[in-house]
Amino acid sequence: MSEKEYIIFWFRRDLRLLDNVGLSKALAQGKSVLPIFIFDNNILHKLPKDDPRVNFIYNTLQNLRQELNNKYKASVALFHGNPLDIYKDLIKSYKITAVYTNHDYEPYAIKRDKEIYDFLREKNILFKTFKDQVIFERNEIVKADGNPYVVYTPYMRKWKETYRRLSLNSIPKVDNIGNFISDIDLPNVSLHDLGFINATIKAPEYDDSPKIIQEYEVTRNYPAIKGTSLLSLHLRFGTVSPRLIIKKAVKEENETFWNELIWREFFMQILWHFPHTVTKSFKEKYDRIVWRNNEEDFKKWCEGKTGYPLVDAGMRQLNKTGFMHNRVRMLVGSFLCKHLLIDWRWGEAYFAEKLLDYEMASNVGNWQWVAGCGVDAAPYFRIFNPTTQITKFDKDLKYINQWVTDLNELTYPLPIVEHKAARERCLNAYKEALN
Ligand SMILES: Cc1cc2nc3c(=O)[nH]c(=O)nc-3n(C[C@H](O)[C@H](O)[C@H](O)COP(=O)(O)OP(=O)(O)OC[C@H]3O[C@@H](n4cnc5c(N)ncnc54)[C@H](O)[C@@H]3O)c2cc1C
Repeated sequence: MSEKEYIIFWFRRDLRLLDNVGLSKALAQGKSVLPIFIFDNNILHKLPKDDPRVNFIYNTLQNLRQELNNKYKASVALFHGNPLDIYKDLIKSYKITAVYTNHDYEPYAIKRDKEIYDFLREKNILFKTFKDQVIFERNEIVKADGNPYVVYTPYMRKWKETYRRLSLNSIPKVDNIGNFISDIDLPNVSLHDLGFINATIKAPEYDDSPKIIQEYEVTRNYPAIKGTSLLSLHLRFGTVSPRLIIKKAVKEENETFWNELIWREFFMQILWHFPHTVTKSFKEKYDRIVWRNNEEDFKKWCEGKTGYPLVDAGMRQLNKTGFMHNRVRMLVGSFLCKHLLIDWRWGEAYFAEKLLDYEMASNVGNWQWVAGCGVDAAPYFRIFNPTTQITKFDKDLKYINQWVTDLNELTYPLPIVEHKAARERCLNAYKEALN
């Protein structure tokens, strides 16, 4: 092992060079920086072999390697295994003085990082972590008494007030690029090495143009039009900078778009303060609901065969593309929990498996919102009517016709539940649990 000292920068949910806080800090130390990414077996082994998210990460990393190679004669080292074992090997090959990385707030990541921190500390290696994927994290936005906000609107107001007060609108550049390790032959892996194959589902391009942001209010509720940014996947994996996107929202003066981005941070701080909500309802008594959990109904919901065209269109869009419009996510979620009386956790798990933009905090938060059991959730007795939702949001049936091509055929299923009866059944089940 050479005596040269290195700093590792560990990429995780921040797969970009621009405005990457941990990476800029690592490069600013004046030592050679070895960028790495670990395909973590603890996560990969649960995923289907053609998982499009693994493909997306993989392709993004190959592009990053190419970009670093072309611009700076550098690269990213790719590993596959258990992160702790990878670190045990790395310290045998390089004299490492510090590992820099960005915060991850999910329960598994917190536990993993603690393990790595303990291991490195024993070896006298620093483990330095930074806030990167949000503007405000953990307890940076809390009530005057120090307690977390569990209602969105006051959180959002405080968030904006703090953002303005601190003038947080500058975007750091990638400086000190000469400090990347000058080695273009760093370890690589193939998709095949990881046990995966090419996915048929591809990631959508995002659109953060002024037009999309300025017209957001008018367009965002209609699933048939391209009226939202499709940024979710990119914010999830950090292929765009959250600071840059917020800055654009502020510049275009679109409060609604800005508010949606703040929902993302709201749910992240909820997950951090209340990690038990991954499996338990935030409002405890909602866990007394006696769900029907009928497996056949669940299967029909998953396949988009409920006989309710807007619900079916949403589920078929999800199955075919890994994406579903937010309006329709709210409807299919409500339909599952309320019309079919199936536990929100089943829906949450199905979305986690299928959504390209799956993000634990947003998924759990929104599912609990839909079921009525979460923070700042809609009252449980407000039940979407799956038919009038069509009149409101897809009156020309454009979206439905795109995904439910058998709508007018005899094979298209009859509704699996009758709306009024299902509504009554739901209200009774909720009332019984909550009284
Ligand atoms: C049941 C259900 C499950 C969901 N699961 C996820 C998930 O796993 N991952 C995820 O990113 N979003 C989730 N959402 C929120 C929302 O549907 C998606 O963020 C949005 O549809 C993504 O499309 P977009 O990027 O075009 O959003 P835009 O409408 O363009 O919004 C811009 C960004 O704001 C954020 N955002 C918007 N709405 C929400 C919201 N309700 N909660 C949190 N952040 C929001 C996202 O980061 C989004 O990319 C879920 C919503 C529901 C109702």
